[in-house]
Amino acid sequence: MFDDIIAVMVNHPTYFYGTVLVFGLIIGSFLNVVIHRLPIMMEKDWVCECREYLAKELVDKKPAEETEPQVYNLSVPRSACPKCGHKITALENIPIISWLVLRGKCSGCANPISIRYPLVELLTGALSLAVAINWGPTQVTLLYLVLTWGLIALTFIDFDTMLLPDEITLPLLWLGLLVAVWGLGIPPTDAIVGACVGYLSLWSVYWGFKLATGKEGMGYGDFKLMAVFGAWLGWQSVFLILLLSSFVGAIFVIAILYAQKKGKNTQVPFGPYIAIAGWIALLWGDSMIEFYLQNYFYQAV
Ligand SMILES: [Zn+2]
Repeated sequence: MFDDIIAVMVNHPTYFYGTVLVFGLIIGSFLNVVIHRLPIMMEKDWVCECREYLAKELVDKKPAEETEPQVYNLSVPRSACPKCGHKITALENIPIISWLVLRGKCSGCANPISIRYPLVELLTGALSLAVAINWGPTQVTLLYLVLTWGLIALTFIDFDTMLLPDEITLPLLWLGLLVAVWGLGIPPTDAIVGACVGYLSLWSVYWGFKLATGKEGMGYGDFKLMAVFGAWLGWQSVFLILLLSSFVGAIFVIAILYAQKKGKNTQVPFGPYIAIAGWIALLWGDSMIEFYLQNYFYQAV
């Protein structure tokens, strides 16, 4: 059955690309939910934990008024308009098309729906297609798609909240190590050393910066994200990703400062630049390293 599907996909690349694109758009729609809800779920968990901790600490004091916590996860409650509460129907949930048909407005109250939703869907579709074109109809493609989707969610969550949730970074890290163990990616030794080198590279930058300036330039989520790329691409790629992320970061920071006209102490998340740089390295890292060696290194030697 699975082999038949693979055979069809190999013989008809257009079907394969089409399927991946449509699937990517649908996943993009789901990622919108993750990007919006995961930080809220995390915050609710922290509040709960703090309450429990304080209730234990202050036994003689009355705990805060207990209210039955409402179920809130990725599937419950159903998506609704934040203004009028209109529940979004299945027809209104078709990636991109629904937004265009509704002309970016809620069908209940005409409250504008952010253009970011269709853009995230479009981006997920486009990046999924790029992965499919790069690796073709193989098992590896599916794994790299999972990595890509995780990175999209992380990028937008970090932009919104300055958080890189463990709920996404850690599974991506384990998956990267497993892919190497399964023999589908780089050698396992490169992956394990890569995860350590990735984590420690930014960890040392963080502590160097903190000892020198007393400021915190990034967070622990950033170290974990570098570990993810170390595990997927190997320790050899860590330096390239660091270099690329500073480039991407510099471009974004200049653009953001220019657009917002904020002071130079504006907090800017670092995670999105690592994610973008890492994804570029995933697709084109080998050719970039090769190009460098061919054109600069070997000539110098
Ligand atoms: Zn509405």
